[in-house]
Amino acid sequence: MRKIKDYISNLSLQRKWMLTSSAVIFISYAIICIVVYVSLHTWLLNDEGSKVKRTRDDVVSFLESQGPNISIQQIQQNTGLLKSIVDRDQTVRLFNNDGIEILRINNASQAAPLSSSSMGEIVQMTVDKKDAYVVNEPLQLGFFQVYIQVIHPLARFESLMHYLLTAMLIAGVGALLLSGSIGYYLANYLTKPLHALRASMKTVMDQGFNEPIQLTYTSHDEIGDLLKMYNAMMNELQISFAQQQQFVADASHELRTPIQAIEGHLSLLKRWGKDDPAILEESIETSLTEITRMRKMIEELLELARREEKDELSEANPIEVIDSVIEEMALVYPKAKITLSKKEEIGAVFITFNALSQIIRNIVENAIRYCEKVPEVNITLSKKEHEVEIQIADNGIGIAENNLPYIFDRFYRVDEARNRQIGGTGLGLSITKMLLEKYNASVEVKSEENVGTVFLLKLPLKY
Ligand code: ADP
Repeated sequence: MRKIKDYISNLSLQRKWMLTSSAVIFISYAIICIVVYVSLHTWLLNDEGSKVKRTRDDVVSFLESQGPNISIQQIQQNTGLLKSIVDRDQTVRLFNNDGIEILRINNASQAAPLSSSSMGEIVQMTVDKKDAYVVNEPLQLGFFQVYIQVIHPLARFESLMHYLLTAMLIAGVGALLLSGSIGYYLANYLTKPLHALRASMKTVMDQGFNEPIQLTYTSHDEIGDLLKMYNAMMNELQISFAQQQQFVADASHELRTPIQAIEGHLSLLKRWGKDDPAILEESIETSLTEITRMRKMIEELLELARREEKDELSEANPIEVIDSVIEEMALVYPKAKITLSKKEEIGAVFITFNALSQIIRNIVENAIRYCEKVPEVNITLSKKEHEVEIQIADNGIGIAENNLPYIFDRFYRVDEARNRQIGGTGLGLSITKMLLEKYNASVEVKSEENVGTVFLLKLPLKY
Protein backbone atom coordinates (compact mmCIF):
# COMPACT_ATOMS: atom_id res chain seq x y z
CA MET A 1 0.00 0.00 0.00
CA ARG A 2 2.84 2.36 0.95
CA LYS A 3 4.62 1.45 -2.25
CA ILE A 4 1.56 2.31 -4.32
CA LYS A 5 1.19 5.59 -2.42
CA ASP A 6 4.87 6.45 -3.05
CA TYR A 7 4.56 5.45 -6.69
CA ILE A 8 1.50 7.69 -7.17
CA SER A 9 3.02 10.65 -5.36
CA ASN A 10 6.14 10.40 -7.54
CA LEU A 11 4.16 10.41 -10.77
CA SER A 12 4.15 13.57 -12.87
CA LEU A 13 1.13 15.87 -12.53
CA GLN A 14 0.15 14.93 -16.09
CA ARG A 15 0.06 11.18 -15.27
CA LYS A 16 -1.79 11.76 -11.99
CA TRP A 17 -4.33 13.83 -13.83
CA MET A 18 -4.77 11.24 -16.54
CA LEU A 19 -5.05 8.31 -14.13
CA THR A 20 -7.47 10.09 -11.83
CA SER A 21 -9.80 11.29 -14.55
CA SER A 22 -9.83 7.87 -16.29
CA ALA A 23 -10.40 6.07 -12.98
CA VAL A 24 -13.25 8.40 -12.02
CA ILE A 25 -14.94 8.11 -15.42
CA PHE A 26 -14.48 4.32 -15.51
CA ILE A 27 -15.70 3.70 -11.95
CA SER A 28 -18.80 5.84 -12.53
CA TYR A 29 -19.48 3.96 -15.74
CA ALA A 30 -19.02 0.57 -14.01
CA ILE A 31 -21.40 1.53 -11.18
CA ILE A 32 -24.07 2.65 -13.66
CA CYS A 33 -23.64 -0.63 -15.64
CA ILE A 34 -23.95 -2.79 -12.52
CA VAL A 35 -27.08 -0.99 -11.39
CA VAL A 36 -28.68 -1.24 -14.86
CA TYR A 37 -27.70 -4.91 -15.23
CA VAL A 38 -29.02 -5.97 -11.82
CA SER A 39 -32.31 -4.09 -12.20
CA LEU A 40 -32.88 -5.43 -15.72
CA HIS A 41 -32.04 -8.96 -14.54
CA THR A 42 -34.54 -8.78 -11.69
CA TRP A 43 -37.23 -7.17 -13.77
CA LEU A 44 -36.93 -9.62 -16.71
CA LEU A 45 -36.78 -12.64 -14.39
CA ASN A 46 -39.97 -11.48 -12.67
CA ASP A 47 -41.53 -11.08 -16.08
CA GLU A 48 -40.60 -14.70 -16.98
CA GLY A 49 -42.12 -15.83 -13.66
CA SER A 50 -45.39 -14.05 -14.35
CA LYS A 51 -45.56 -15.66 -17.82
CA VAL A 52 -45.37 -19.12 -16.17
CA LYS A 53 -48.03 -18.14 -13.64
CA ARG A 54 -50.32 -16.83 -16.35
CA THR A 55 -50.05 -20.01 -18.43
CA ARG A 56 -50.71 -22.18 -15.34
CA ASP A 57 -53.72 -20.06 -14.29
CA ASP A 58 -55.12 -20.03 -17.85
CA VAL A 59 -54.78 -23.83 -18.19
CA VAL A 60 -56.40 -24.38 -14.76
CA SER A 61 -59.33 -22.07 -15.51
CA PHE A 62 -59.78 -23.67 -18.95
CA LEU A 63 -59.93 -27.17 -17.47
CA GLU A 64 -62.22 -26.09 -14.65
CA SER A 65 -64.53 -24.36 -17.13
CA GLN A 66 -65.12 -27.70 -18.89
CA GLY A 67 -67.32 -28.84 -15.93
CA PRO A 68 -66.91 -31.66 -13.39
CA ASN A 69 -67.96 -34.47 -15.78
CA ILE A 70 -65.30 -34.02 -18.41
CA SER A 71 -63.29 -37.14 -19.24
CA ILE A 72 -59.60 -37.47 -20.07
CA GLN A 73 -60.51 -38.52 -23.64
CA GLN A 74 -62.52 -35.34 -24.12
CA ILE A 75 -59.57 -33.26 -22.99
CA GLN A 76 -57.18 -35.20 -25.24
CA GLN A 77 -59.44 -34.61 -28.23
CA ASN A 78 -59.91 -30.93 -27.52
CA THR A 79 -56.30 -29.59 -27.35
CA GLY A 80 -56.73 -26.80 -29.96
CA LEU A 81 -57.78 -24.14 -27.43
CA LEU A 82 -55.18 -25.26 -24.92
CA LYS A 83 -52.44 -24.83 -27.58
CA SER A 84 -53.47 -21.24 -28.11
CA ILE A 85 -53.15 -20.60 -24.32
CA VAL A 86 -49.62 -22.02 -24.03
CA ASP A 87 -46.59 -20.10 -25.41
CA ARG A 88 -44.66 -21.84 -28.16
CA ASP A 89 -41.52 -22.42 -26.13
CA GLN A 90 -43.44 -23.56 -23.03
CA THR A 91 -44.40 -27.20 -22.48
CA VAL A 92 -47.50 -28.19 -20.48
CA ARG A 93 -48.05 -31.77 -19.31
CA LEU A 94 -50.98 -33.38 -17.51
CA PHE A 95 -50.18 -36.32 -15.25
CA ASN A 96 -52.67 -38.67 -13.61
CA ASN A 97 -52.49 -39.66 -9.96
CA ASP A 98 -49.92 -42.38 -10.80
CA GLY A 99 -47.64 -39.90 -12.43
CA ILE A 100 -48.37 -41.11 -15.96
CA GLU A 101 -48.46 -38.46 -18.65
CA ILE A 102 -51.94 -38.23 -20.10
CA LEU A 103 -51.66 -35.02 -22.13
CA ARG A 104 -48.88 -32.86 -23.61
CA ILE A 105 -49.08 -29.42 -25.22
CA ASN A 106 -45.85 -28.65 -27.17
CA ASN A 107 -42.71 -30.71 -26.67
CA ALA A 108 -39.99 -28.10 -26.17
CA SER A 109 -38.62 -29.73 -22.96
CA GLN A 110 -38.55 -33.13 -21.34
CA ALA A 111 -40.72 -33.74 -18.28
CA ALA A 112 -39.49 -32.46 -14.93
CA PRO A 113 -39.89 -34.54 -11.72
CA LEU A 114 -43.26 -34.17 -9.95
CA SER A 115 -42.20 -33.44 -6.42
CA SER A 116 -44.94 -32.91 -3.85
CA SER A 117 -42.89 -30.50 -1.71
CA SER A 118 -42.91 -27.75 -4.31
CA MET A 119 -46.53 -28.13 -5.47
CA GLY A 120 -48.01 -24.82 -6.61
CA GLU A 121 -44.63 -22.97 -6.41
CA ILE A 122 -42.59 -21.72 -9.34
CA VAL A 123 -39.17 -23.39 -9.09
CA GLN A 124 -36.04 -22.70 -11.13
CA MET A 125 -34.32 -25.98 -12.14
CA THR A 126 -32.28 -27.57 -14.89
CA VAL A 127 -34.31 -29.49 -17.45
CA ASP A 128 -32.44 -30.98 -20.45
CA LYS A 129 -29.28 -29.27 -19.12
CA LYS A 130 -31.00 -25.94 -19.59
CA ASP A 131 -32.37 -23.55 -16.95
CA ALA A 132 -36.14 -23.36 -16.78
CA TYR A 133 -39.00 -22.28 -14.54
CA VAL A 134 -41.18 -25.23 -13.55
CA VAL A 135 -44.55 -25.22 -11.75
CA ASN A 136 -46.57 -28.32 -10.74
CA GLU A 137 -50.19 -27.70 -9.87
CA PRO A 138 -52.64 -30.33 -8.56
CA LEU A 139 -56.19 -30.15 -9.91
CA GLN A 140 -59.39 -32.14 -9.19
CA LEU A 141 -61.21 -32.90 -12.47
CA GLY A 142 -64.51 -34.61 -11.64
CA PHE A 143 -63.42 -37.84 -9.97
CA PHE A 144 -59.84 -37.57 -11.16
CA GLN A 145 -56.88 -36.03 -9.45
CA VAL A 146 -54.51 -34.63 -12.14
CA TYR A 147 -51.26 -32.66 -12.02
CA ILE A 148 -50.53 -29.86 -14.43
CA GLN A 149 -46.84 -29.22 -15.12
CA VAL A 150 -45.75 -26.03 -16.92
CA ILE A 151 -42.09 -25.85 -18.06
CA HIS A 152 -40.91 -22.46 -19.15
CA PRO A 153 -37.29 -22.47 -20.49
CA LEU A 154 -35.14 -19.43 -19.52
CA ALA A 155 -32.93 -19.66 -22.63
CA ARG A 156 -34.31 -16.49 -24.22
CA PHE A 157 -33.91 -14.55 -20.99
CA GLU A 158 -30.35 -15.84 -20.51
CA SER A 159 -29.27 -15.07 -24.04
CA LEU A 160 -30.68 -11.53 -23.65
CA MET A 161 -28.69 -11.11 -20.42
CA HIS A 162 -25.55 -12.46 -22.13
CA TYR A 163 -26.02 -10.08 -24.98
CA LEU A 164 -26.45 -7.17 -22.54
CA LEU A 165 -23.35 -8.14 -20.56
CA THR A 166 -21.22 -8.43 -23.70
CA ALA A 167 -22.47 -5.08 -24.96
CA MET A 168 -21.71 -3.48 -21.57
CA LEU A 169 -18.22 -4.99 -21.46
CA ILE A 170 -17.42 -3.79 -24.98
CA ALA A 171 -18.77 -0.34 -24.13
CA GLY A 172 -16.77 -0.46 -20.85
CA VAL A 173 -13.49 -1.09 -22.69
CA GLY A 174 -14.43 1.73 -25.09
CA ALA A 175 -15.21 4.01 -22.13
CA LEU A 176 -11.86 3.16 -20.55
CA LEU A 177 -10.00 3.99 -23.75
CA LEU A 178 -12.04 7.16 -24.26
CA SER A 179 -11.64 8.34 -20.66
CA GLY A 180 -7.90 7.56 -20.84
CA SER A 181 -7.43 9.59 -24.00
CA ILE A 182 -9.63 12.46 -22.80
CA GLY A 183 -7.70 12.44 -19.50
CA TYR A 184 -4.40 12.46 -21.40
CA TYR A 185 -5.53 15.29 -23.67
CA LEU A 186 -6.85 17.34 -20.73
CA ALA A 187 -3.74 16.76 -18.66
CA ASN A 188 -1.58 17.71 -21.61
CA TYR A 189 -3.62 20.84 -22.27
CA LEU A 190 -3.53 21.96 -18.64
CA THR A 191 0.10 21.18 -17.92
CA LYS A 192 1.44 22.72 -21.13
CA PRO A 193 1.42 26.30 -19.75
CA LEU A 194 2.96 24.99 -16.52
CA HIS A 195 5.80 23.44 -18.55
CA ALA A 196 6.27 26.79 -20.31
CA LEU A 197 6.31 28.52 -16.91
CA ARG A 198 8.94 26.11 -15.64
CA ALA A 199 11.06 26.58 -18.77
CA SER A 200 10.83 30.36 -18.42
CA MET A 201 11.84 30.21 -14.73
CA LYS A 202 14.79 28.02 -15.64
CA THR A 203 15.90 30.49 -18.33
CA VAL A 204 15.74 33.33 -15.79
CA MET A 205 17.69 31.20 -13.31
CA ASP A 206 20.39 30.33 -15.86
CA GLN A 207 20.69 33.53 -17.86
CA GLY A 208 19.08 36.24 -15.72
CA PHE A 209 16.81 38.81 -17.33
CA ASN A 210 18.51 38.89 -20.70
CA GLU A 211 15.54 37.64 -22.70
CA PRO A 212 12.14 39.38 -22.61
CA ILE A 213 9.64 37.27 -20.64
CA GLN A 214 6.27 36.76 -22.32
CA LEU A 215 4.31 33.57 -21.74
CA THR A 216 1.31 33.30 -24.02
CA TYR A 217 -1.85 31.57 -22.80
CA THR A 218 -5.01 33.25 -23.90
CA SER A 219 -7.66 31.49 -21.78
CA HIS A 220 -9.10 33.56 -18.94
CA ASP A 221 -8.98 30.78 -16.35
CA GLU A 222 -6.92 30.23 -13.19
CA ILE A 223 -3.81 29.28 -15.18
CA GLY A 224 -4.30 32.31 -17.43
CA ASP A 225 -4.46 34.49 -14.30
CA LEU A 226 -1.36 32.87 -12.88
CA LEU A 227 0.62 33.42 -16.09
CA LYS A 228 -0.61 36.99 -16.39
CA MET A 229 0.59 37.66 -12.83
CA TYR A 230 3.86 35.90 -13.54
CA ASN A 231 4.42 38.01 -16.68
CA ALA A 232 3.61 41.21 -14.77
CA MET A 233 5.82 40.22 -11.85
CA MET A 234 8.73 39.27 -14.08
CA ASN A 235 8.43 42.47 -16.10
CA GLU A 236 8.45 44.46 -12.87
CA LEU A 237 11.52 42.54 -11.71
CA GLN A 238 13.15 43.03 -15.10
CA ILE A 239 12.56 46.79 -14.91
CA SER A 240 13.85 47.04 -11.36
CA PHE A 241 16.86 44.86 -12.26
CA ALA A 242 17.63 47.12 -15.23
CA GLN A 243 17.17 50.19 -13.01
CA GLN A 244 19.54 48.78 -10.45
CA GLN A 245 22.14 48.10 -13.10
CA GLN A 246 21.65 51.61 -14.47
CA PHE A 247 21.95 53.00 -10.95
CA VAL A 248 25.25 51.24 -10.30
CA ALA A 249 26.61 52.27 -13.70
CA ASP A 250 25.50 55.93 -13.26
CA ALA A 251 26.70 56.14 -9.68
CA SER A 252 30.14 54.74 -10.38
CA HIS A 253 30.53 56.94 -13.46
CA GLU A 254 29.40 60.13 -11.76
CA LEU A 255 31.32 59.57 -8.51
CA ARG A 256 34.54 58.90 -10.41
CA THR A 257 34.94 62.62 -11.40
CA PRO A 258 34.89 64.14 -7.89
CA ILE A 259 37.05 61.31 -6.54
CA GLN A 260 39.60 61.87 -9.30
CA ALA A 261 39.57 65.63 -8.57
CA ILE A 262 40.18 65.06 -4.85
CA GLU A 263 42.86 62.46 -5.62
CA GLY A 264 44.60 64.92 -8.00
CA HIS A 265 44.58 67.71 -5.43
CA LEU A 266 45.83 65.48 -2.63
CA SER A 267 48.78 64.22 -4.73
CA LEU A 268 49.53 67.84 -5.67
CA LEU A 269 49.61 68.70 -1.97
CA LYS A 270 51.79 65.72 -1.21
CA ARG A 271 54.37 66.71 -3.82
CA TRP A 272 54.73 70.45 -3.30
CA GLY A 273 51.62 71.89 -1.77
CA LYS A 274 52.39 71.47 1.91
CA ASP A 275 54.79 74.41 1.87
CA ASP A 276 52.87 76.55 -0.59
CA PRO A 277 49.96 78.17 1.24
CA ALA A 278 48.26 79.21 -2.04
CA ILE A 279 48.17 75.62 -3.41
CA LEU A 280 47.23 74.30 0.04
CA GLU A 281 44.32 76.71 0.28
CA GLU A 282 43.06 76.04 -3.24
CA SER A 283 43.37 72.25 -2.96
CA ILE A 284 41.54 72.11 0.35
CA GLU A 285 38.86 74.42 -1.02
CA THR A 286 38.35 72.30 -4.17
CA SER A 287 38.41 69.02 -2.24
CA LEU A 288 35.78 70.33 0.17
CA THR A 289 33.55 71.49 -2.71
CA GLU A 290 33.90 68.11 -4.41
CA ILE A 291 33.13 66.28 -1.17
CA THR A 292 30.02 68.42 -0.63
CA ARG A 293 28.93 67.64 -4.20
CA MET A 294 29.58 63.95 -3.64
CA ARG A 295 27.55 63.94 -0.45
CA LYS A 296 24.66 65.67 -2.21
CA MET A 297 24.88 63.24 -5.11
CA ILE A 298 24.92 60.20 -2.81
CA GLU A 299 21.94 61.54 -0.88
CA GLU A 300 20.04 62.15 -4.13
CA LEU A 301 20.99 58.76 -5.56
CA LEU A 302 19.74 57.07 -2.42
CA GLU A 303 16.53 59.07 -2.65
CA LEU A 304 16.03 57.83 -6.21
CA ALA A 305 16.90 54.24 -5.31
CA ARG A 306 14.57 54.11 -2.33
CA ARG A 307 11.33 54.16 -4.37
CA GLU A 308 9.07 53.75 -1.37
CA GLU A 309 5.47 52.67 -1.83
CA LYS A 310 3.04 55.58 -1.93
CA ASP A 311 0.84 56.09 1.07
CA GLU A 312 -2.84 55.99 0.04
CA LEU A 313 -3.73 58.39 2.86
CA SER A 314 -1.34 61.13 1.69
CA GLU A 315 -2.69 64.61 1.29
CA ALA A 316 -1.18 68.06 1.27
CA ASN A 317 -2.42 71.60 0.93
CA PRO A 318 -0.49 73.09 -2.03
CA ILE A 319 -0.75 76.67 -0.69
CA GLU A 320 0.85 75.70 2.61
CA VAL A 321 3.59 73.77 0.82
CA ILE A 322 4.40 76.60 -1.59
CA ASP A 323 4.43 79.17 1.26
CA SER A 324 6.88 77.07 3.23
CA VAL A 325 9.19 76.62 0.19
CA ILE A 326 9.08 80.36 -0.52
CA GLU A 327 10.05 81.07 3.10
CA GLU A 328 12.93 78.60 2.93
CA MET A 329 14.21 79.95 -0.41
CA ALA A 330 14.02 83.55 0.82
CA LEU A 331 16.54 82.65 3.52
CA VAL A 332 18.97 80.92 1.15
CA TYR A 333 18.54 83.27 -1.83
CA PRO A 334 17.57 86.64 -0.33
CA LYS A 335 17.90 88.42 -3.68
CA ALA A 336 15.37 86.24 -5.48
CA LYS A 337 11.76 87.43 -5.88
CA ILE A 338 9.36 84.57 -5.48
CA THR A 339 5.62 85.20 -5.64
CA LEU A 340 2.50 83.08 -5.37
CA SER A 341 -0.58 84.39 -7.16
CA LYS A 342 -4.22 83.21 -6.87
CA LYS A 343 -4.45 82.35 -3.27
CA GLU A 344 -8.08 81.19 -3.23
CA GLU A 345 -8.82 77.96 -1.41
CA ILE A 346 -7.81 74.98 -3.53
CA GLY A 347 -8.25 71.93 -1.31
CA ALA A 348 -5.95 69.00 -0.67
CA VAL A 349 -3.98 67.19 -3.35
CA PHE A 350 -3.05 63.49 -3.27
CA ILE A 351 0.64 63.65 -2.30
CA THR A 352 2.61 63.97 0.94
CA PHE A 353 3.70 67.37 2.23
CA ASN A 354 7.37 66.39 2.00
CA ALA A 355 7.18 65.06 -1.56
CA LEU A 356 5.38 68.17 -2.83
CA SER A 357 7.87 70.48 -1.04
CA GLN A 358 10.76 68.59 -2.59
CA ILE A 359 9.24 68.85 -6.09
CA ILE A 360 8.56 72.59 -5.76
CA ARG A 361 11.90 73.25 -4.05
CA ASN A 362 13.84 71.52 -6.88
CA ILE A 363 12.07 73.51 -9.58
CA VAL A 364 12.22 76.85 -7.75
CA GLU A 365 15.88 76.35 -6.83
CA ASN A 366 16.73 75.56 -10.47
CA ALA A 367 14.81 78.67 -11.53
CA ILE A 368 16.97 80.79 -9.20
CA ARG A 369 20.27 79.04 -9.95
CA TYR A 370 19.94 79.02 -13.74
CA CYS A 371 19.38 82.75 -13.95
CA GLU A 372 21.79 85.50 -14.83
CA LYS A 373 19.55 88.44 -13.83
CA VAL A 374 17.81 89.09 -10.52
CA PRO A 375 15.77 85.91 -10.28
CA GLU A 376 12.00 86.31 -10.50
CA VAL A 377 9.90 83.23 -9.93
CA ASN A 378 6.10 83.34 -10.36
CA ILE A 379 4.01 80.55 -8.99
CA THR A 380 0.38 80.32 -10.09
CA LEU A 381 -2.20 77.93 -8.71
CA SER A 382 -5.44 76.94 -10.41
CA LYS A 383 -8.06 74.34 -9.78
CA LYS A 384 -9.47 72.16 -12.60
CA GLU A 385 -12.20 69.48 -12.35
CA HIS A 386 -10.14 66.68 -10.84
CA GLU A 387 -6.71 68.27 -10.50
CA VAL A 388 -4.72 71.24 -9.40
CA GLU A 389 -2.33 72.99 -11.77
CA ILE A 390 0.79 74.60 -10.37
CA GLN A 391 2.69 76.76 -12.82
CA ILE A 392 6.25 77.88 -11.96
CA ALA A 393 7.67 80.47 -14.36
CA ASP A 394 11.14 82.03 -14.18
CA ASN A 395 13.17 84.66 -16.00
CA GLY A 396 16.29 82.46 -16.22
CA ILE A 397 18.59 81.46 -19.03
CA GLY A 398 16.03 79.03 -20.50
CA ILE A 399 16.65 75.63 -22.04
CA ALA A 400 17.31 75.07 -25.75
CA GLU A 401 14.56 73.08 -27.48
CA ASN A 402 16.86 70.16 -28.34
CA ASN A 403 17.85 69.78 -24.66
CA LEU A 404 14.32 69.91 -23.29
CA PRO A 405 13.46 66.20 -23.73
CA TYR A 406 16.44 65.13 -21.62
CA ILE A 407 16.29 67.39 -18.57
CA PHE A 408 14.48 64.72 -16.50
CA ASP A 409 17.12 62.06 -17.28
CA ARG A 410 19.53 61.07 -14.54
CA PHE A 411 22.78 63.08 -14.50
CA TYR A 412 21.72 65.16 -17.48
CA ARG A 413 23.08 68.65 -17.41
CA VAL A 414 22.66 71.11 -20.28
CA ASP A 415 25.95 72.86 -19.87
CA GLU A 416 28.33 70.57 -18.03
CA ALA A 417 31.02 73.22 -17.29
CA ARG A 418 28.62 75.91 -16.10
CA ASN A 419 26.59 73.44 -14.05
CA ARG A 420 29.65 72.17 -12.21
CA GLN A 421 30.25 75.75 -11.12
CA ILE A 422 26.63 76.07 -10.01
CA GLY A 423 27.04 72.80 -8.13
CA GLY A 424 24.30 70.75 -9.83
CA THR A 425 24.33 66.98 -9.87
CA GLY A 426 21.87 66.37 -12.70
CA LEU A 427 19.63 64.40 -10.36
CA GLY A 428 17.18 67.05 -9.06
CA LEU A 429 14.69 66.83 -11.92
CA SER A 430 14.87 62.98 -12.06
CA ILE A 431 13.83 62.94 -8.41
CA THR A 432 11.06 65.43 -9.20
CA LYS A 433 9.80 63.24 -12.07
CA MET A 434 10.00 60.07 -9.96
CA LEU A 435 7.95 61.66 -7.16
CA LEU A 436 5.37 63.04 -9.61
CA GLU A 437 4.91 59.63 -11.24
CA LYS A 438 4.57 57.99 -7.86
CA TYR A 439 1.58 60.20 -7.05
CA ASN A 440 0.03 60.00 -10.57
CA ALA A 441 0.92 63.61 -11.29
CA SER A 442 2.43 64.96 -14.51
CA VAL A 443 4.72 67.74 -15.64
CA GLU A 444 5.10 69.79 -18.83
CA VAL A 445 7.95 72.19 -19.57
CA LYS A 446 8.09 75.13 -21.98
CA SER A 447 11.19 77.21 -22.32
CA GLU A 448 12.76 79.94 -24.40
CA GLU A 449 16.44 80.67 -24.23
CA ASN A 450 17.30 83.94 -22.47
CA VAL A 451 13.61 84.54 -21.67
CA GLY A 452 12.74 81.89 -19.13
CA THR A 453 11.25 78.51 -18.39
CA VAL A 454 7.74 77.45 -17.31
CA PHE A 455 7.07 74.19 -15.45
CA LEU A 456 3.39 73.13 -15.34
CA LEU A 457 2.56 70.51 -12.70
CA LYS A 458 -0.79 68.68 -12.67
CA LEU A 459 -1.63 66.97 -9.38
CA PRO A 460 -4.77 64.92 -8.71
CA LEU A 461 -7.13 66.38 -6.11
CA LYS A 462 -7.62 64.21 -3.05
CA TYR A 463 -11.44 64.47 -2.91
P1 ADP B 1 21.03 69.94 -11.61
O1 ADP B 1 21.34 69.37 -10.30
O2 ADP B 1 22.18 69.95 -12.55
O3 ADP B 1 20.33 71.24 -11.52
P2 ADP B 1 18.48 68.96 -12.57
O4 ADP B 1 18.06 67.59 -12.85
O5 ADP B 1 17.76 69.73 -11.54
O6 ADP B 1 20.04 68.90 -12.28
O7 ADP B 1 18.35 69.75 -13.93
C1 ADP B 1 18.86 69.22 -15.13
C2 ADP B 1 19.35 70.30 -16.05
O8 ADP B 1 18.26 71.01 -16.60
C3 ADP B 1 20.17 71.33 -15.35
O9 ADP B 1 21.50 70.97 -15.33
C4 ADP B 1 19.95 72.59 -16.17
O10 ADP B 1 20.85 72.64 -17.24
C5 ADP B 1 18.57 72.40 -16.76
N1 ADP B 1 17.55 73.21 -16.04
C6 ADP B 1 16.72 72.76 -15.09
N2 ADP B 1 15.87 73.75 -14.69
C7 ADP B 1 16.21 74.85 -15.38
C8 ADP B 1 15.71 76.19 -15.43
N3 ADP B 1 14.70 76.61 -14.66
N4 ADP B 1 16.27 77.06 -16.31
C9 ADP B 1 17.26 76.64 -17.10
N5 ADP B 1 17.77 75.39 -17.11
C10 ADP B 1 17.28 74.51 -16.27
